[in-house]
Amino acid sequence: MSEKYDVIVIGSGPAGYVAAIRAAQLGLKTACIEKWQDSAGKGVNGGTCLNVGCIPSKALLDSSHKYHDAKDAMSGHGISTGTVTIDVPAMIKRKDKIVKQMSGGIAGLFKANKVSSLYGTGKLLAGRKVEFTALDGAVSELEADNVILASGSVPVAIPMAPVDNEVIVDSTGALEFDSVPERLGVIGAGVIGLELGSVWSRLGSKVVCLEAMDSFLAMMDQQIAKETKKILTKQGLDIRLSCRVTGTEVKGKEVVVTYTDVDGKEQTETFDKLIVCVGRRPFTEGLLSGDCGVNLDERGLIYVNDLCSTSAPGVWAIGDVVRGPMLAHKGSEEGVMVAERIAGQKPLLNYDIIPNVIYTHPEVASVGKTEEQLKADGEPYNVGVFPFVAIGRAVAADEADGMVKMLAHAETDRVLGCHIVGPSASDLVQSVAIAMEFGSSAEDIGMTVFGHPTFSEAVKEAALAVNGHAIHMPNRKRKK
Ligand code: FAD
Ligand code: NAD
Repeated sequence: MSEKYDVIVIGSGPAGYVAAIRAAQLGLKTACIEKWQDSAGKGVNGGTCLNVGCIPSKALLDSSHKYHDAKDAMSGHGISTGTVTIDVPAMIKRKDKIVKQMSGGIAGLFKANKVSSLYGTGKLLAGRKVEFTALDGAVSELEADNVILASGSVPVAIPMAPVDNEVIVDSTGALEFDSVPERLGVIGAGVIGLELGSVWSRLGSKVVCLEAMDSFLAMMDQQIAKETKKILTKQGLDIRLSCRVTGTEVKGKEVVVTYTDVDGKEQTETFDKLIVCVGRRPFTEGLLSGDCGVNLDERGLIYVNDLCSTSAPGVWAIGDVVRGPMLAHKGSEEGVMVAERIAGQKPLLNYDIIPNVIYTHPEVASVGKTEEQLKADGEPYNVGVFPFVAIGRAVAADEADGMVKMLAHAETDRVLGCHIVGPSASDLVQSVAIAMEFGSSAEDIGMTVFGHPTFSEAVKEAALAVNGHAIHMPNRKRKK
């Protein structure tokens, strides 16, 4: 007899593990299957996010920022640090310890919530049955009333730059360098390119980012993107747009990259390491039997509706393996929604208000519509922009680069979007996301009392600027 569950989740990344915990909280008998193994062959939870994504990249971003601060930024405060050195293996060891602690935390949460944690591979069969192949190779069949697919994503590979994990690496390899490469190439100036490029640039690498598109951070508000490029360039990142990589040749310990530049001229550049980070693709290999009834779309994503139902009854899919931004928190919220739907509740997920953060320094964060999207939609809007250089706390902290930009409906004043490059942008944008969830107007935010001196005063001033009422700068348009 196969073991029967109310819910089986396949994949324990931030989408799957959150779905499993919420389902168990709601009294459903839940199992979560995970195939990820650590270097010792032991099963680990947490998926991309905890093992090779959000958490380890932020650990290295924080270490490298502290190094940069100690080496270059403290003298202005009258602090002399002497010679500052970086022990890369120690930095990587610290990152590994954090990863272990966080993924171990999920095992603890599963235990506390009575989620059955099964290490091995899950394959969906017809009729909500799941073939489970344990890490030791033993195969069994499980059954469930509902199956949630949360198999995540993997880096996109490109034939002209094959990853060898020595000289040419993907985002995972770029978290494992044992020394600072003198010359670092990055293919793709997207989120990963900028975050991991920043890590190694702060530690001393000369970083060149080769980006195929002619605009920088094309999906972001372009005023904020332009400001971001200016700041990152000043920090030493060499970002080259409209560059098409045509080939790579590994020669011993270095790689020669050939590309056509913005003028269509062929160029070459030699690097000690090359990171390929040109996007991620959904991962469904070995997940679905031919007769399970789940359809994929033309991009290989599992096809789902707004409620994350697939084409097979009782089978749901969430996270990076379905449409929408490939962000940990988007998948987690889908996990909660699906678990609650299975338990008979009727939650909805507001896909219009999903914050997005790039953890450079300063951070870049956004929520809602960009100015370009509002223009394309023909939506009438007002815009308020406020620079951090006019914020006392930012000047005092030597964090005065950047700005807050707020967009509100021209007639109703409802906040439609907020885009920030500047100190603590990730936290500031979250406060606007909360306001947007409650249907706030720019005037509502402008009328709210903000503590002084805080970085968040830039949010209040940008909201005031929407209607020409900013206090600490001249307003472009004046209204009574
Ligand atoms: P995943 O985290 O990919 O997890 C899927 C899991 O399913 C994996 O553990 C996999 O082993 C398992 N699995 C797959 N198939 C099977 C099977 N058949 N049987 C059993 N198990 C299976 N996002 C953010 O929001 N903020 C960030 O700061 C951020 N930083 C990132 C930095 C980097 C370097 C990278 C690479 C990504 C980053 N992301 C970030 C993206 C984020 O990691 C993903 O959006 C998120 O992990 C997706 O969650 P998921 O649960 O859908 O999939
Ligand atoms: P991305 O989509 O952010 O950026 C990829 C970049 O590569 C794009 O600018 C694209 O134009 C460019 N590109 C594509 N093909 C190219 C080619 N052949 N040559 C040169 N440039 C090329 O993807 P990513 O940086 O790989 O990150 C993958 C996903 O992981 C992101 O979409 C994001 O959802 C997630 N992520 C999020 C965070 C975060 O939230 N802070 C951090 C890292 C990753």
